[in-house]
Amino acid sequence: MGGSLAGLAGVVAEEETVPSGTAPPPAPSEEPSPGSGAGDGSAAGPAGRVRPIVLDGDPVLHRPCAPVTVFDDELAQLEADMVVSMHAADGVGLAANQIGVDARVFVMDCPDASGERVVATVVNPVLRLPGVFARRAADDEGCLSVPGEAAVVERLTTAVVTGVDVRGEPVRVSTNGLAAVCLQHEVDHLDGLLYVDRLSAQERAEVLSAAGLQPR
Ligand code: ZN
Repeated sequence: MGGSLAGLAGVVAEEETVPSGTAPPPAPSEEPSPGSGAGDGSAAGPAGRVRPIVLDGDPVLHRPCAPVTVFDDELAQLEADMVVSMHAADGVGLAANQIGVDARVFVMDCPDASGERVVATVVNPVLRLPGVFARRAADDEGCLSVPGEAAVVERLTTAVVTGVDVRGEPVRVSTNGLAAVCLQHEVDHLDGLLYVDRLSAQERAEVLSAAGLQPR
């Protein structure tokens, strides 16, 4: 599903070959998170370990995550674990509750509309969507927590997220294309929503069944 939103579940990684389970090389463009060296797996942060991905049906995915209030080594470790877990799963974005942690944090390493990698970690993100005349697109979207499946979801083609990094420094990610969808998808996760929650009840049940999960 090249170039499509199923890349959120890892299908779209052809343009950037990132070795699974290892930290990627420093991204050529880290503009979205200046000063957030730990987020790209560079030498600044602790080594991460791969943690299992939580699947649809686990309560931690279906309730809003708690805001982060303590910016300590544990948070830096969480970021590192999330980055390596995302890459190990061949994903382009991951929310903390997808590894079972109730905290408003997501990581991403996702191409924008021009194929540039957008690499960021955002703590306590606030999503800012453009106005009512913004362009929308409907494309296939997938999720590591609903493995192997994808369905068409309508999203805005540009988005902005503001928040902080694991040291509490301000972060702003303004992007388009798949990376903009990723922002919307990951903030949804932190609000307790999966993309299947944006489908009709019938389609949601079908997608979950096809993924081997309990329909709901
Ligand atoms: Zn997801």
